[in-house]
Amino acid sequence: MPAKREEEMTDFDHKGKPAATAAIMDLVSRRGAGKSICPSEAARRIGGEDWRRLMPLVRSVAEELVDKGEIEMRQRGKPVDPKAAVGPVRLARRSPTGGVETVEDVAAAIRACRICAAQFDHEPKPILQVGPSPRIAIYSQAPGNLAHQKGRPFQDPSGVRLREWLGVDEAIFYDPQAFAIAPMAFCFPGYDAKGGDKPPPRICAKTWRRRLLAALPGLKLALLVGSYAQEWHLGRTAARTMTERVRQWRDVGPLFVPLPHPSWRNNAWLRKNPWFAEELLPEIRGRVADLVRQ
Ligand code: SF4
Repeated sequence: MPAKREEEMTDFDHKGKPAATAAIMDLVSRRGAGKSICPSEAARRIGGEDWRRLMPLVRSVAEELVDKGEIEMRQRGKPVDPKAAVGPVRLARRSPTGGVETVEDVAAAIRACRICAAQFDHEPKPILQVGPSPRIAIYSQAPGNLAHQKGRPFQDPSGVRLREWLGVDEAIFYDPQAFAIAPMAFCFPGYDAKGGDKPPPRICAKTWRRRLLAALPGLKLALLVGSYAQEWHLGRTAARTMTERVRQWRDVGPLFVPLPHPSWRNNAWLRKNPWFAEELLPEIRGRVADLVRQ
């Protein structure tokens, strides 16, 4: 299907370009490493039943994204020049280094990251756990000082409580085939003036998050531990407070389940909200047990 030239595009097309760009980028990112989408999926996302009318627009936007190096256009699994492509095409995410990244590629790049060196008073030590195809992800805040010292996430009382909530022991929790552990920032950010952990540096999610998630297809359950992960992953759909977000867990599933941070700082919250232990934890334990057995 030939793309429309700029002068042929209608006012609707121009308004629809940002939506088509967002739909394509979101779909190829979610589809993940090595996988592709049909342009019609993006057209259906923005046009619903009227999607066929949007195919020339989607194709035109896809060509622009190929030109910018954001995505790849493919036929029979191989990259093609959009101008030479005849017949149906597919679209896939392109890594900044060219080709489609594996999770190992992204993890290696993250572990070498030192972007925050100037703002920390310690050497950045990125900590994450990923395997080729984990089924469950823990999206948390940032490693604490103990995890920083030991080089392993959740090596602290919060980790003990989180494993108890999930009904798993250390062997399962630290199996990268079962669990990915990807906090909103991968390094311990240091302490604030009151002795609490500083918030995760925003630059970390901005730099790495979409790239890492694109390399982690096939997740069945993503636990959003604490407000930072909930706000980022749920975006505009996120309820205003952490309590509301956790209480409304059925509305954002089945992929996402919001949880409070398992820190001792939330002991009072846990006492005030007994429904969390009575309703949500049994559900989580059941789903985790099923996914770990697969
Ligand atoms: S917190 Fe993130 S962006 Fe900052 S140095 Fe660590 S990995 Fe890099």
